[in-house]
Formats: sequence, structure tokens, C-alpha cells
Amino acid sequence: MKLERIELTNFRNIESMELEAVPGVNVIHGENAQGKTNLTEAIWLFTGAKSFRGAKDRELIRFGTDSCKSKICFSSALRSQTAEIILSAKETAGTKAKEIFLNDIPLESTSELAGQFYSVVFSPAHLSLVREGPAFRRKFLDTAIGQILPRYEHYLREYQKILLQRNTLLKDLARFPQLIDTMEVWEEHLAKAAAAVVFCRARYVARILPQAAQVYEGISAGKERFTLRYLCGMEKAEEQPKDEIRKFFLKEFQRTRNADIERGATLCGPHRDDLELLVNEMPMRLYGSQGQQRSGVLALKMAECAMVEEVTGETPIVLLDDVMSELDAGRRDYLLNHLENRQVFVTCCDDESFYGLKSGKSFLIQSGNLVDTKLF
Ligand code: ATP
Ligand code: MG
Repeated sequence: MKLERIELTNFRNIESMELEAVPGVNVIHGENAQGKTNLTEAIWLFTGAKSFRGAKDRELIRFGTDSCKSKICFSSALRSQTAEIILSAKETAGTKAKEIFLNDIPLESTSELAGQFYSVVFSPAHLSLVREGPAFRRKFLDTAIGQILPRYEHYLREYQKILLQRNTLLKDLARFPQLIDTMEVWEEHLAKAAAAVVFCRARYVARILPQAAQVYEGISAGKERFTLRYLCGMEKAEEQPKDEIRKFFLKEFQRTRNADIERGATLCGPHRDDLELLVNEMPMRLYGSQGQQRSGVLALKMAECAMVEEVTGETPIVLLDDVMSELDAGRRDYLLNHLENRQVFVTCCDDESFYGLKSGKSFLIQSGNLVDTKLF
């Protein structure tokens, strides 16, 4: 997959920009707060996922304007396509808050772009994956799986919906004890929905593990061993058929029912899952150094990339925001050498360290404007 061109209008601090990319390494450089991450974010939004900075659509519209537009031309193995996202601050009868077009045909939602445009992003914000609570790691899994299995979004929504219903019921029981009769039905639904989510997550982790371990080994020059452990309450869930997972959760929901009633919330299930990152068998979150944590996230991201390739046959576009400056020379070289055949967009303050690259182009960004380009 290659991004050929991007045009932005009123996207964050970018009033108007047209950028022609090269198939190899595209270096976006400039001083702080000039619009480098903004440009990266604009590209990422075409994957159909939410902003990797957690921004709301409104925040993407340039201050003092009512709408923003981003358009890309990209090519996959099969053909060249265009995609366009238009966001409006004010929804009127004639305009929707968000309009999406693929080859000039309107789409219902950005999630329909998943399966068309593939990209993997790594920014310092992704360090939360190791450092923060399990919600970040569930989000990583959900976004990564959603990209290769669009149906997964539906499984997740279904689970969330039924979970909410069971939780409401748990709270209502104090006032209406007779409602207990309906609990079993909800638990059966919930177990089925939980199994669909856990089945995908467990298999996904099992499949990215060898790749992530290999990348980590490369980054650490073979000195450290990296592994992942998917924690969903069930042992070796990746080896179980979906129905066994369903039965497991059904039992779990029944077992924890009384405690759940007391707490007014469901205490087990995929909404509590975690993905443990370990280096030399020790949890990275607690014992990893900064460099190890960064390498761990990078390994996960590269494995995500390899997985997209394996499943879709498309090489995702790699977006590396502010990553290079934080890596030592050895790690940086390893990374660049393992990105072959993939189109890369990398942001940094200056482009000097890239001059040695065989095929690349650099773009100098100042106050949201593209002021210079250089081929090397
Ligand atoms: P750094 O090197 O520090 O990471 P950067 O070049 O990546 O910098 P960006 O995050 O891309 O910087 O851009 C930040 C700039 O964009 C800030 O000056 C910010 O105020 C501005 N900005 C963010 N959102 C908007 C918006 N909706 N309208 C106008 N400007 C915005
Ligand atoms: Mg930035």
C-alpha cells in the first residue's frame, strides 16, 4: 500500500497543503509545534480508526473555521483509489458533521474505510501501552484486530451492549428482586458475545507473538527475551474452540453473580482483559527500563504490521511520529533496515540522519506550511 498524495484544508494548523509522497521513506521535519504530528494524524484517520491522540473530530478543524477536508490518493496491489474525509463543526440540514467518500462515493461511516487503507502508527503516546492500565492494551488489540477483521467491531459493540444490559439488571435487582429470573438469559447472551471477542483476541496474540519476539530480539541484539501473555481468565484460550470459551464465561458469570449483584457491575469478562508484556519473564510495566518499554511497543507495532501483511497481502503504511529521536543509533538502524518495501512517514526535527537512505524525500514544515522538499 502506498500513499501517493495528500491534500489538506483547514486540518488543525494546516490551512492548505498538498504533498506528493515517495514509495520509500518520507521524512517530515521541522521545529516543534509546526504541524508534523498533525499531518501524520491526518493520514492515520483514513484507516477508519479514531485519532491516535484521542482527539475528537471537532478538534481537528482549524481554529476559526467551520470545516476541514483531507483527501488522499493511494494505491494498493490492485488499483489506485481516492478517499476523502470532510468534517463540519456545525451540522445543518444539508451537511453532516462527517462525510466520507471512497472514489467519490459516499460511505456511511469511517469504519467502512477499514479494509481499504492500511496503516500502522507509533508515537510516544503509544508508550501508554506499556506504562498505563489494561484499557490501553485492550484498545491496541481492538484497533489492530479491527483493521484485519472488520466484523470484529460488531462483536465488540454487541458485547458492550449486552454487558450494559446485565449491569443495569444487576443494579435494578435491589428494587425488583423478581428480575433475577431474566438473569440467566442475559448471561447466556453475554457469554456468547464474550466468546466472540476473546476468541479473536486470543488468536491474534498467539499469532503476533513470534513476530514481536523476533523484532525485540533484533532490537536488543539478542540480549533480551520478549514475550506476551493474554490474560482473559481462561488458560490457553487460543487453543479453545469458541463454544468452549462460551461455556467457560457462562460458568464464570454464574459463579460471580452474587458478587456482581453486590457490586452492581460485572466483574469478569473481556472488558477486564489484559495483555502482559514481559521481558526476560518480568512484567515490563513494573520492571522495564525506558528503552526496553519503547522497544517492546515497537516490537508489538511491527508485529501488527506483519499481521496486516499476512492477512490482507497489503503492506501497511508505517507512521513513526517522534520515534527516531528517542532511539539510539543501533536501534534506529535496525528499525530502518526492517522497514524494507514498506512506505514510511517519519517525523523528526531535522532530516540529516536520513541523508544516507537510498530512496527518500524530505518535507520541511513551518507553521502548517510545506516550505521545502528534498529528494535523496
Ligand atoms: P513537535 O515536534 O513538538 O511534536 P509538531 O510539529 O508535531 O511538533 P503538531 O502537534 O503537529 O506539532 O502541531 C501542533 C500545532 O498545531 C500547535 O501549535 C497547535 O496549537 C496547533 N493546532 C492543534 N490543533 C489545532 C487546530 N484545531 N487549529 C489550529 N491549530 C491547531
Ligand atoms: Mg509532534
